[in-house]
Amino acid sequence: MALIVQKYGGTSVGSVERIFNVARRVAGCARSGNAVAVVVSAMGDTTDDLLALARSVSEKPPERETAMLLTTGEQVSAALLAMALDKLGCPACSFTGPQAGILTDGVPLDARIRAFNPVKVRQALEEGKVAVVAGFQGADPDGLLNTLGRGGSDTTAVALAAALGADLCEIYTDVDGVYTVDPRLVPAAGKMDFISYDEMLEMASLGAKVLHPRAVDCGRAHGVVIHVRSSFNEETGTLVKEDTALETGTVVRGIACDTDQAKIAIIGVPDRPGIAARIFSAIGQRGINVDLIVQSIRRNGENDILFTVRADDVDKTLAVVKPVADEVGARDVCVHRGVAKVSVIGAGMMHHSGVAASMFEALASEGINIEIISTSEIRISCLIDETRVQDAARAIHRKFGLGNDRQ
Ligand code: ADP
Ligand code: ASP
Ligand code: MG
Repeated sequence: MALIVQKYGGTSVGSVERIFNVARRVAGCARSGNAVAVVVSAMGDTTDDLLALARSVSEKPPERETAMLLTTGEQVSAALLAMALDKLGCPACSFTGPQAGILTDGVPLDARIRAFNPVKVRQALEEGKVAVVAGFQGADPDGLLNTLGRGGSDTTAVALAAALGADLCEIYTDVDGVYTVDPRLVPAAGKMDFISYDEMLEMASLGAKVLHPRAVDCGRAHGVVIHVRSSFNEETGTLVKEDTALETGTVVRGIACDTDQAKIAIIGVPDRPGIAARIFSAIGQRGINVDLIVQSIRRNGENDILFTVRADDVDKTLAVVKPVADEVGARDVCVHRGVAKVSVIGAGMMHHSGVAASMFEALASEGINIEIISTSEIRISCLIDETRVQDAARAIHRKFGLGNDRQ
């Protein structure tokens, strides 16, 4: 008998019929003698619909209330899946995140899990029931509901697998596994049999939304092997696990694209020490993640500072940047939303030169302009025009001979 945690994403539970499809899979697994805990996302586009509903009431809905609203989406799926299992004669009970024992840090819409003590889940499993947990949520020490950030149900699942000491953590989604690039963007994308935590973390952080970055981080920290696979067939998917010597050797493993980016430019900043520190510490204090940064030198003792943030964070960022820009005597602050980040990822890059040049050549061959470049040991990212993302991904995929572009 194995202890298995399964997570089903929004598309997989998108209708009553699909909930029954999931219930049959779960019941089959439980009937084979396994203890099964299931984490579910909200049905289909529910989270987006709830956000739109909130915005129809208020342009800036309070974050506390938004969290209260969004957590209902996952609760609906959890209750319905438990009912479907019951209907199939498979004993089950559902739990909200807090009932499952998830304690969060109090950040309403991007909370971290501080502690996970799954007492009730364990009890249900011991009673021979399937435990169904609402993903993407927890409660802070005051009992207020928090969400874990978009895509956060993956993190609930991996954290639950770690807390229970599960034998398997399966993430069921609407693709067959992790591909060399989003298969909806590049048809020649190839499925990977495995990917290391480090590479997957880069892919996820850089926009491959198939896994929530913090789920990968949690898996790495607790040694949880994550199996990403389809809820619509029985195929083996992709294993996310520790790298082993035998498995290295490929220079570029995958490409990630992120269209959820905005570029902010602070124009005409006086060229004095300490100004960048002022601007970025003000942004950091608001908990906003800044990604690519460049400072371009102009004449007459002035610079322009450009950086990217998540599109959702633009208003929050401007609210802190504008006063600081005024204070230091900058001339203007502009926002440009039509940008995207394209990145190549691969642990093998550390030992190879020429990867950046090949990537730039691929973009140049398509006439795509690079606005900002950033590199780390295992990735290279370029900021480009959002409308060229697909061309860029296809050209880079071909250039590196990934997936079905392999010669
Ligand atoms: P779920 O609702 O199951 O959590 P998501 O929509 O969050 O599913 O993630 C799955 C989607 O991630 C896929 O439909 C696919 O379009 C996208 N995706 C982006 N990059 C990749 C990649 N490298 N491999 C697989 N899927 C990817
Ligand atoms: N329902 C949430 C979202 O759409 C969480 C998730 O699906 O993982 O972001
Ligand atoms: Mg997801």
